[in-house]
Amino acid sequence: MQLNFIANQAVASASGRTLPVLDPSDGQAFDHLQRSDAQDIDAAVQAARACFNGPWQRLSAADRGRLLMALSRKVTEHAHELAALEQRDCGKPTRQARADAAALARYFEFYAGACDKLHGETIPYQEGYSVFTWREPHGVTGHIVPWNYPMQIFGRSVGGALAAGNCCVVKPSEDACLSLLRVAELAAECGFPPGAINIVTGYGHEVGDALARHPGIDHISFTGSPSVGTIIQQVAAERHCPVTLELGGKSPQIVFADADLDAALPVLVNAIVQNAGQTCSAGSRVLIEEAIYEPLLGRLAQAFEQLRVGPAAMDLDLGPLIRQSQQQRVWDFLSDAQADGIAVVAQGTIVDEAPETGFYQAPTLLADVPVDHRVAQQEVFGPVLAAMRFADEDHVVQLANATRFGLVAGVWTRDGARQLRMARRLHSGQVFINNYGAGGGVELPFGGVKSSGYGREKGFEALYGFTTLKTVAVRHG
Ligand code: NAD
Repeated sequence: MQLNFIANQAVASASGRTLPVLDPSDGQAFDHLQRSDAQDIDAAVQAARACFNGPWQRLSAADRGRLLMALSRKVTEHAHELAALEQRDCGKPTRQARADAAALARYFEFYAGACDKLHGETIPYQEGYSVFTWREPHGVTGHIVPWNYPMQIFGRSVGGALAAGNCCVVKPSEDACLSLLRVAELAAECGFPPGAINIVTGYGHEVGDALARHPGIDHISFTGSPSVGTIIQQVAAERHCPVTLELGGKSPQIVFADADLDAALPVLVNAIVQNAGQTCSAGSRVLIEEAIYEPLLGRLAQAFEQLRVGPAAMDLDLGPLIRQSQQQRVWDFLSDAQADGIAVVAQGTIVDEAPETGFYQAPTLLADVPVDHRVAQQEVFGPVLAAMRFADEDHVVQLANATRFGLVAGVWTRDGARQLRMARRLHSGQVFINNYGAGGGVELPFGGVKSSGYGREKGFEALYGFTTLKTVAVRHG
């Protein structure tokens, strides 16, 4: 039985209600977690506030950094244990789960080093004044985390918030809590004071809603779907609470005829099959210049046919999707595509060892998808790649920008001037030239434009979002 983690104590929800935890690889329940509500959120916010006003505020920035560094080391020592928890909970292949644990450790390391480097400014002003700015923490920050990369998103969001001097209340997804509950225990072992990190589990519309509404929450970091992002903004607006939103994407991977196709091919494939396509920055559209459309589509099809899907522990190219409703969502997109005459060019294979009760989906390559079709416009959040052809630079810019999202864009070309023109013309938070994701470096600010959200997490930039600026003007003459 999994318990909430409040003020460094494992506690049951006030109501005593629980939820089953399912293994996506076989669809079976193997544990339970707390189905918390507003009372549990209130206890967590009170614990966080007491910590913020007490031991946390008395710590120097350097000491906060030392704690975060200790946690980074602890996560590294427990990396395989954390990866195994997240693997079972989320259906991640072993390599992906271990990469996520390593990323979590790296986030804490990065933010450990950043704590004591967050400076204000002095501002030249009128004679007789000294004016300067302080970067102050918001206080108690709320973090609503999705199920696709719990450890990574916890690292970038909670890591940044703690580094900036906040105390945190975290609501993980009801589908993916186990690794984060364990990380909070490890933080307590490292000496984080009670209340610095609190985890409260349960349904979004119950406990997530209670977190967003709580008057003691001073800032909300939300990572999840655009529709829930809208609700969070509306709820937060009632009390003018600042929000950072990391929402979805329909990210284009653009391949010009002069590209290094050998280098591009594995990256194009991985960008849509990593984590079974359940990645906000998944490269779910591939836009190919007419002259190389057929040959590149043929190579993509060969690569897709070799992909294998199976139980997470088999560590194949893809594991299962997170839950049955997600599987159904992908099926609905594919059956709409089929009904509208969109060709399935290639599919991978679900291995015989995959239990029928698991939530598997073969990676699927679709050709000549019309730009206004829902499979080219909406986030499938599964391993479905929509291929489209383009005539020239103006055409591809129009196609690439023709969705409501703007998270990531990839561009493959050897032409340097075009690389920079494309980077300017694409409406997205990140543009990757001759790569996709730059290895996910924690140093790189990340976020979206349009319906992909606003505000930035990751990198030093995140610390500005997790602080508020105070201007102090001293009259002395
Ligand atoms: P979701 O929006 O359903 O849930 C996200 C979180 O919000 C969960 O913890 C959920 O319990 C909670 N929630 C749900 N309803 C709520 C409510 N009414 N009030 C408060 N909280 C509520 O999203 P998901 O299905 O967990 O994750 C997939 C989505 O997240 C995709 O759209 C994906 O693109 C996006 N995502 C974005 C990023 C990014 O950085 N941009 C990263 C990961 C995932």
